[in-house]
Amino acid sequence: MSKQKKKLLIVEDERQIRESLTDFFHLQGYDVLAAATGDEGLVMGLAEKPDLILLDIMLPGMHGYDVCRNLREDGYFGPVLFLTAKGEEVDKLTGFDVGGDDYVTKPFSLLELHARVRALLRRAEKEEPEEDAYAWADISVNFTTYDLQVNGVATRLSAKEMELLRFLVKHRGQVLSREVLLDKVWNYDADVSTRTVDTHILNLRRKLTDKPPNRFIQTVHGVGYKFVGGL
Ligand code: CA
Repeated sequence: MSKQKKKLLIVEDERQIRESLTDFFHLQGYDVLAAATGDEGLVMGLAEKPDLILLDIMLPGMHGYDVCRNLREDGYFGPVLFLTAKGEEVDKLTGFDVGGDDYVTKPFSLLELHARVRALLRRAEKEEPEEDAYAWADISVNFTTYDLQVNGVATRLSAKEMELLRFLVKHRGQVLSREVLLDKVWNYDADVSTRTVDTHILNLRRKLTDKPPNRFIQTVHGVGYKFVGGL
């Protein structure tokens, strides 16, 4: 982990848990922000860009899953770790679908929680640097020379497809909404729509021979896409 203090956001309606988590992570050397409702958590998450969010699922007002979906749609890429109470009926797959990274069940051990937080932060940190080249499965790509090899065959991508692939690779493991892709890859060109994103993804998948069941460009239902090649 870098020496810079990491910023955590805790979204939890139960005061006692919120406060004990806040104290614990303060003591561990983190900057800690806390919110008691989903709506407040969403606003803080987008404004403060914490390095990680601990997100309770059962919240008054906005449900934890909706908070996560909204965070992803509005371009928050950091890890989200869901907190769930024992016996609560939660669909974990939905949690991953809306862009969550991990789950911890209450009551939890603070040391175990901290270990999970550290693991997610390490993973997020590794994803940050922008490489000139990347390789996964039987594919290698050089973003500077535009050289792309798919199963040993030189393959051509359009400039936009290459840019899209580069953004996906740079943010691998993160859920990217169509809106974020439009904003970052197309800079909200007047004549493109989210359909353009889907078309380009389709072309990329075809050229990279990305097929189910082990797709490396995964569709995240209701949100967008996630690149998992090489992870
Ligand atoms: Ca709760």
